[in-house]
Amino acid sequence: MSSSTPVLIGGSIAIDHIKTPTAEGKNLLGGSASFTAIAASYFTSPIHLVGIIGKDFPQEHLDLFSSKNISTTGLERSEGDTFSWTGSYHENMNDRDTLEVAVNVLEDWTPKIPAEMASAPIVVLANMHPLNQLQMIEQLTAEKPFIAADTMDLWITIANDDLHKVLKKIDLLVINESEARDFCKTSNLIVAGQRLLEKGPKNVVIKLGEFGAILFSKESDQQGTESLDPSISQSHLPSLPGVRLFRCAAFPLAEVADPTGAGDSFLGALAGHLASTGKTNFSFDDIRQAIVYGSVVASFTCEAFSTNRLAHITRQDIESRLTLLKNLTHWP
Ligand code: AMP
Repeated sequence: MSSSTPVLIGGSIAIDHIKTPTAEGKNLLGGSASFTAIAASYFTSPIHLVGIIGKDFPQEHLDLFSSKNISTTGLERSEGDTFSWTGSYHENMNDRDTLEVAVNVLEDWTPKIPAEMASAPIVVLANMHPLNQLQMIEQLTAEKPFIAADTMDLWITIANDDLHKVLKKIDLLVINESEARDFCKTSNLIVAGQRLLEKGPKNVVIKLGEFGAILFSKESDQQGTESLDPSISQSHLPSLPGVRLFRCAAFPLAEVADPTGAGDSFLGALAGHLASTGKTNFSFDDIRQAIVYGSVVASFTCEAFSTNRLAHITRQDIESRLTLLKNLTHWP
């Protein structure tokens, strides 16, 4: 554990039912905030979780959160049933269909951030309705928190205006490649990245599943010290003036058991690493490094259903994989 900078994380807490081409898992711990919080817990403490669960939510999952130093004071307990998601993966393990969504306790939920958590310098708005993301932003009390947010195709379709409001208030957006293409009405990901930056955030990360991620960063908004890495000054495309780019690989896996939550774990590790720097203004180098941690931690999530692998790794496991990923992708 390298830091005591708190990270506030809001999102869904779910019971998932998942089918892959070769296996099936029922009543699994899921939800965007669950994966994000556990991933972040390897980098900093405390992690403050804001979400809602129902009366059916198993105690063992709450025990898992406590064991990771994830505070659940901001977790509302309702008399209804926990949000539940059923999904099925295609043969390629990248594409999936949502078979069923039981919104349950999320239906009328308004997130309430306990006062002692509202001043967290780093805030993650994991995948949830953009209205809930806005409600969380309104309650933040830190002078200039760093806010990272995720979204999904559903919100692009049914809550487009609210999503645009969120984008004006955040520092970093993570989004899947197919969602980025749809949202920006272009098949070209470089154009999509540029258009997403124009919607507000200073940084945009387009996730490419098994192929990694691309970071787009507005140069004018880079803060902190000048980069020590000379390659940084050349990280522009001639066609994208004022934008720095970083292309991060995914950690290669010969077997993927269940990619559910990989994106959320990516976001959690990214935020956790930023917190571990002890800073509140992040340079391009910081965000670049955070994305590599995100890629590495997401790879663990894919190796088992639910949080079964993610919850049982060590910081050393993360560092070893990071070194290996560097060796696999770096050349002199
Ligand atoms: P990911 O694989 O990173 O996209 O995240 C998958 C997680 O998101 C699952 O554990 C689901 O419970 C959760 N999820 C799926 N649909 C929704 C939704 N509409 N709102 C919030 N969370 C969702």
